Amino acid sequence: MAAFNLLLFAIEAVCYFTLMVTLLHFRQRLGLGMFLTALGVMHFMETYLAAVFYVALPFGVASPGSSVFFAGKLLMILMLYLQEDAATVRQPIYGLFLGNILTVGIAWLLQLHTPIELPRGDGANVDFLKEMGWLMVWGTTLLYLDSIGIILLYERLGRFLKRRIIWRFMICGFVLLTFDQIGFFGALHYFLEIPASVFWDGWKAKMFAVCIYTALFAVYEIWIRRGAVPSSVRPISDVFSDLTFRERYNDLLNRTGRDVLTGVYDRARMEMEAPIMIREALRQGQLATVIILDADHFKDVNDRFGHLQGDEVLKAITLRLGTILRSSDRVFRFGGEEFVAICPATDHAEGLRLAERLRWTIATSVKTPDGKSVTVSIGVATADTDGVSFTTVLSAADERLYQAKKGGRNCVVGQPGLVKAS
Ligand code: GH3
Ligand code: MG
Ligand code: MG
Repeated sequence: MAAFNLLLFAIEAVCYFTLMVTLLHFRQRLGLGMFLTALGVMHFMETYLAAVFYVALPFGVASPGSSVFFAGKLLMILMLYLQEDAATVRQPIYGLFLGNILTVGIAWLLQLHTPIELPRGDGANVDFLKEMGWLMVWGTTLLYLDSIGIILLYERLGRFLKRRIIWRFMICGFVLLTFDQIGFFGALHYFLEIPASVFWDGWKAKMFAVCIYTALFAVYEIWIRRGAVPSSVRPISDVFSDLTFRERYNDLLNRTGRDVLTGVYDRARMEMEAPIMIREALRQGQLATVIILDADHFKDVNDRFGHLQGDEVLKAITLRLGTILRSSDRVFRFGGEEFVAICPATDHAEGLRLAERLRWTIATSVKTPDGKSVTVSIGVATADTDGVSFTTVLSAADERLYQAKKGGRNCVVGQPGLVKAS
């Protein structure tokens, strides 16, 4: 009997998932309202079942109301979030919360009526309505917390398991439904003295449901959702369909403000970020060094080999900048063949050493098509000895770059007294 109940349990979960995911999948054609209405309308049944309908399973006694339907609804909210943005998923979260609070309020008002006896003789069970009432308020509050929690956890897991959406889905289900079980049965235990064994039985049933839903989710994500993406845009959408809106936004933000030729951040990004980097370093009581670098006689490279070859040389220079600079440093393309690097937590002497390494590496490894060395001149300035704002430090560095050019190029110039010619 218990095994048959378990089979029915699994069939219920498959039916629930199939219907809800079909509505979600075709929401552009059907309208999102269909999915949301179906999600909302099942809430009353879930609560009703959780209050009165329990069946024996091989691992204990549980209600399909909380294990299959409530667990399913929470995971549907997560799936909606995966395909839509936070503004959309807010609608069912708030809608369910407010609608259920109103239902309980109305149920309270209803009991003030004196209903007439119906000919068939079955009167309304007001006590049951009241009991359902507080169960609904508590269940709804928990659902509200669960929904926000599951989204936050999914995002947080993205830091460690970015491409592992199936794992993230499953972990979220396990964690949030455990939390929910503690909250829901904690209240039942406290108010109605329901024994602790019911907690464990219900918990096992919910975890079982998460396993079924995760398997169905995997099938949907791998075979249906990805397959539905037109093949011509496959490579990009493959990456994108795995990301939530927030992750896509961060991704986009990361890729905007990049210079198309060299891939380093552009001047606009520098104007935005460099002053913050300097301010932040000084606020933490650290120094920050600004390095400005300009290729020597670059016009000649263009004149002799053409602009396309010149571009290749510029790319080769930025590649060296990327390997020498540390992960906390940021490099920006300031203009044509001039680059600015911001190095936080770096004093002047260290900045000079770094600049010298850059100069040496470029001079020894970047070549023009005829095998001649490409060199750069570098100016170095440090906050706070050269100023406290980015603009003052940058102009000090720029002034030194000019001196480096005057001093014969292929050299680094720092603060007076620390001039470092090659
Ligand atoms: P100096 O040693 O005094 O710096 O001499 P220079 O010839 O490098 O002079 P300057 O820095 O004033 O010249 C910059 C040249 O860089 C001018 C321009 O043709 C070239 N340049 C600027 N941006 C690009 C680019 O994106 N691609 C290529 N190929 N050349 C560029
Ligand atoms: Mg130049
Ligand atoms: Mg220049």
